Amino acid sequence: MNPARATQELKHFRADTHIHTCLSPCGDLEMGPRDIAAQSRHAGLDMIAVCDHNSAENAGAVMRAGDRLGLAVLPGLEICSREEVHVVALFETLESAHQMQEFVYARLPGENQRAVWGEQIVANEKNEVLGENPRLLIGATTLNLYEIVAQVHACGGLCIASHVDRPAYSLIGNLGFIPPDLDIDGIEVSFRVPLSRARESVNGIAGYPCVTASDAHFLKDIGRAWYGLQMASPCFAELRMALKGEDGRKIIAN
Ligand SMILES: [Zn+2]
Ligand SMILES: [Zn+2]
Repeated sequence: MNPARATQELKHFRADTHIHTCLSPCGDLEMGPRDIAAQSRHAGLDMIAVCDHNSAENAGAVMRAGDRLGLAVLPGLEICSREEVHVVALFETLESAHQMQEFVYARLPGENQRAVWGEQIVANEKNEVLGENPRLLIGATTLNLYEIVAQVHACGGLCIASHVDRPAYSLIGNLGFIPPDLDIDGIEVSFRVPLSRARESVNGIAGYPCVTASDAHFLKDIGRAWYGLQMASPCFAELRMALKGEDGRKIIAN
C-alpha cells in the first residue's frame, strides 16, 4: 500500500467511459463536443471517456469543453479487432491516445462512404465543424486482440472489452469466452444489464473488473448507464487504481 495515496480522502464519482461523438459514422450529428460535455454534466456525471470507432480525433475538443464545466474527460478509442471484437482503449493524455490512433490508422483499410455509413465530422469545442475524416472508421482493423491490448499498454492505456453481453462485436459474443491469456484490464456490460447483476447475467466474467457504460451515440443516451467509483479524484490514474482495487479505490455497482 502506498501510504500517501491511502491517506487521501476518497469520494464517490459517477463515470460513463464509453461515449461516441459525431466523428463516429453511426453517431448522431448532434453529438458535438460542447453538447456532449454539457449533457454529461446535466446527467450528473463526473467523468466520461470519448471513444469513437478507431479514432480519437474529437477527444481533445471534448476534453477542452469538459474543462470549462469541471467534467473530467478521458481520451479514448473504440478499436475493432480483426475478429470484429470491440475494445475500449482509455488514455491519460491526448498524446498517448493520438499515438494509439496512428498505430490503428496504419492498420485500418478502406475509405468511408458517407451515403452508406454516415458522416464522420471532426469538430472543435465550440461545435464548429473542422472537417470530415475520410477513413473507414466503422471497419475492422487488421490487428488481432492480443496486438491491440499490447499496443494500448505500450501507449500507457487501459483496455476494456466493450459490451460483452451483446451477441455482435463483443469478446464473449464473437469468441464465446475471454481468452485467459488476454491481458485486458476490465470488461464492460451494456446498459441492458444492471451492473449489480452482471456476474449472474453474463457467463465467464468472474475475476475481471466489470464496468458499464452508455455507449451513447445520441445525446439523450449519455449516462443511461454509469458506474460509481470510489477514489480520490476523477482522473485516469485513479481509475486505473479502482480497476485494480488498489488502496481503497474500487468500482461501485449502482
Ligand atoms: Zn462497440
Ligand atoms: Zn461504442
